Amino acid sequence: MKINENRLANDFNYITSQSSTELGCTRLSYSSEDLKVREYITEKLKNIGAEITVDSVGNIRAKYNPANLNTKSLLIGSHIDTVPNGGKYDGLTGTLASLEVIRVLYENHVEIKHPVELVIFAEEEGSNFGSTMIGSKYITKKINLDDLKKLYTDLDQIAFEYIRERGFTFAPEKDNYVDGTDELAMIELHVEQGGILDKKGLSLGIVQAIAGMNTIQIKVKGVSNHAGSTPMKYRKDSLLAAGEMIYKLSKLVEGYESAVITVGKISVSPNASNVIAAETIFNIDIRDVVQENIDKISEKAKELCIEIAANNEVEIEVKLVGSSKVVHMDESLVNIIQDQANKNNLSNMRMNSGAVHDNAMLNGIIPTAMIFVPSIGGISHSPYEDTKFTDILAGVELLLHTVAKIVS
Ligand SMILES: [Zn+2]
Repeated sequence: MKINENRLANDFNYITSQSSTELGCTRLSYSSEDLKVREYITEKLKNIGAEITVDSVGNIRAKYNPANLNTKSLLIGSHIDTVPNGGKYDGLTGTLASLEVIRVLYENHVEIKHPVELVIFAEEEGSNFGSTMIGSKYITKKINLDDLKKLYTDLDQIAFEYIRERGFTFAPEKDNYVDGTDELAMIELHVEQGGILDKKGLSLGIVQAIAGMNTIQIKVKGVSNHAGSTPMKYRKDSLLAAGEMIYKLSKLVEGYESAVITVGKISVSPNASNVIAAETIFNIDIRDVVQENIDKISEKAKELCIEIAANNEVEIEVKLVGSSKVVHMDESLVNIIQDQANKNNLSNMRMNSGAVHDNAMLNGIIPTAMIFVPSIGGISHSPYEDTKFTDILAGVELLLHTVAKIVS
């Protein structure tokens, strides 16, 4: 079985040219660029006899089932939308790799015992309504139509109306959900969006787990006063207390193998250079692939902040504002993929994912696995995102042989 490299390169060239900005790739779900790419990909799948369905939120399922089998499908695929001024490879790499796999199966008349289904999840990046993975959440019934009536665009249009205006018909009762009845498993190929593979000079990562996360909001309340006339010892400075918290929080993950802690969002009020800050609000983002560690570190983070607040004589409010559990990939799929990579002499390692993917939404319903290809310099969600074409080819080769092994 041979991958058609030129064909794949042409697909990348055409699709990455469908961008609403010169800088990087901007292809938001439901935009005219997105609609063109949907047509481009589905046309190619129709030509080889795949049966295409599109659900209410725009998830595409293309079922390649040449022998009209009545068995469960193996799902492969990813997304085609980007963040504003994003890169060429996030999402698209997995989608085009999956397209190429199905074309190669078709050309080689590979006899399959399970249909292979390309899934393109809509609105993964959350660029339209500020909420990520709309498509994969909808397809797994984690959100429904009512939820889409509570989300808005930047211009205050209701998500549901916005999607409908773009030509998608809402018919939830007819939609094809992923519930395990017709689906065997899902394998998603994606760019790593981190720098581990690039640093190690390896072509492929075989994902074992996707990190879970807690987001804790800390509100520190002090007293605002004059920056000139208030002696240091009489101050209740919320920002000074927050500063101490932020610095000490970063030390909480010392000794843990893979846990990370980040404060990347902060707001200060009144935010004036000559006024002592009355209120400082910041978010703590804690992630790891061990759920127990996330819980433990979160608890310590709360205790630490409360203690520092007390020492600084400021008030504090602690609130958990976001949470996602650790997702473990299916061990037997992971083994099949790694055996195949080794058999094909493709350099690889087992690793974890710090970023959440559509795949995680399907996990727990059907067995899932992921294959990573390197991101040069670990850069993603940026116009400078890049992956070597030879690494993409290694990824396609691994996906192809893994799919063939499972379905034939
Ligand atoms: Zn992505």
